[in-house]
Amino acid sequence: MLQIYDTKSRDLAVISTKTPVKIYACGPTVYRDVHLGNLRSFLLPDLLRTALSSAGIDSFVVQNITDVGHMVDDTGIESVDPNQDKMLQQAAAEKVSALDIARKYESKYLADLSALNVQLPDQTPRASETINEMIAVIEKLIYLDFAYQGDDGSVFFSAQKFPSYGAISGNTLDQLKPGHRFEGEIDSNKRFHGDWALWKISDQRRTQLTWDTPWGQGFPGWHIECTAMSLSAFGDQIDIHTGGIDLRFPHHENERAQSNCVSGKEVVNAWVHAEHLLFEGRKMSKSTNNVVLLSDVVSAGISPAAVRLVFLENHYRSQLNLTWETLVAAEQTIRRWSDLVDGAKAINQELKSKISAQLLNNLNTADAVISIRSAEKELAKSPSARADVIATGTDLLKINLAIEPVAISEDAKRLVQARDQARLERDWQQSDSLRDQLISMGYEVNDASSGTMLRRAILPPKI
Ligand SMILES: [Zn+2]
Repeated sequence: MLQIYDTKSRDLAVISTKTPVKIYACGPTVYRDVHLGNLRSFLLPDLLRTALSSAGIDSFVVQNITDVGHMVDDTGIESVDPNQDKMLQQAAAEKVSALDIARKYESKYLADLSALNVQLPDQTPRASETINEMIAVIEKLIYLDFAYQGDDGSVFFSAQKFPSYGAISGNTLDQLKPGHRFEGEIDSNKRFHGDWALWKISDQRRTQLTWDTPWGQGFPGWHIECTAMSLSAFGDQIDIHTGGIDLRFPHHENERAQSNCVSGKEVVNAWVHAEHLLFEGRKMSKSTNNVVLLSDVVSAGISPAAVRLVFLENHYRSQLNLTWETLVAAEQTIRRWSDLVDGAKAINQELKSKISAQLLNNLNTADAVISIRSAEKELAKSPSARADVIATGTDLLKINLAIEPVAISEDAKRLVQARDQARLERDWQQSDSLRDQLISMGYEVNDASSGTMLRRAILPPKI
């Protein structure tokens, strides 16, 4: 049985073993590349799945793709106009249509997940394809008197009609000051400053991503999309809802208000949030030139498996200060483990049960990695038993040891063949010269009994 920290009750929630466990994960706004900080949050549903499956429990994960109506920068990268739709801004910058931008960054996002060995969500509904469901929810909220139309036709949620607003974040309505820019906008059509838009009427200048509705031509607010998608996927009961810590407020407060009011019950059992990630001690931000993507790490010769290992070594609820040094150390571990497990097959049952119990205890991945490392140390004298514990542990935690960060080029492969031939002919001068050439091409060269072994050199950028 899984126990997980619920931000709302500020306590561990017990997740029922009625299967499949229903997990809804707030997904990316697909207008730019996600960075390592975003990926840390997006790993959460996969960790939950991993913990549950270690106990034989099935899960079903739904993660939305936001491709419309997002006015707030949730990547934390900034440098975008807070009053403009992010999709439309990026479309203008890249001179293509908004949906082209959306599909491009959606597929890049899914590729990053796969590289981290994340099992892709069972469903990834897109906001632009769920407009009818949003309209239905908004109509019901108006009918139940939780929402109203402003003077310009836009529809707003009436925050004061939901007395437990603020339960997740602690930002109750009496603490919200007028003018507080929690929606990225100040709108004179609202009756109360804490209300938010469910449907926004668009003006003539907006020519893409608008739909005709009973209230006029416009586009949805960001929060309503998660309510519409989660309720249509799961009905009115969701076991776990995940997101980055930034989403506690206003996104999850607003979503909870909408979903609970339209369903007449508490929809989500546990709200689970991943803490911030800093890089070299600083927030990831474009203005300070401190944004690191998974592709940047891979270019430095560090595999996605090493990134997954570092994420796991730090509990999801603690702030993580990622550095190039930590990433390099993790890559060295991955390479050592990869060399050791070659051919290992036997499962170490004791370690398997231990790690499963650690994962089910609020995703204690940090202790799970320590368990692998301690078992590795204890079995130092028995290479095959040591290989088995590493294979068992990495398999459970889905750390894929088989993937080289960057494929070895054809040119390099030719030089390896030439070098092996030179060594066969005992032409040491030629063999050394070919080794130097390979090193200058960014490879690590090792001599194994089978011949020359190549790996990408680990070359983090100078900081
Ligand atoms: Zn969401």
